[in-house]
Amino acid sequence: MSCGLALSSLAWPATSQADEPVKSGWKVSQEAAKYIDKGPLGGGAQICANCHYFIDPYECLVIEGYVSPQGWCDYYDD
Ligand code: SF4
Repeated sequence: MSCGLALSSLAWPATSQADEPVKSGWKVSQEAAKYIDKGPLGGGAQICANCHYFIDPYECLVIEGYVSPQGWCDYYDD
């Protein structure tokens, strides 16, 4: 007898793209993350300094190496 629920209709916990490297303990290369030293359009709200993963002053939980507070990458998450 079926319970009438499709597996795809169940709610799964929301995870962001960047949660995987953080949970696994490894970091993504800057190239793979498409990191740039200046945020899109030369600034604005989406910069590393406003990102959930930024570690002041020049690090990131997600990507390797030096990270500028004015930078940005594909893993940006506020
Ligand atoms: S946008 Fe966020 S995840 Fe990407 S390099 Fe900056 S602090 Fe790290």
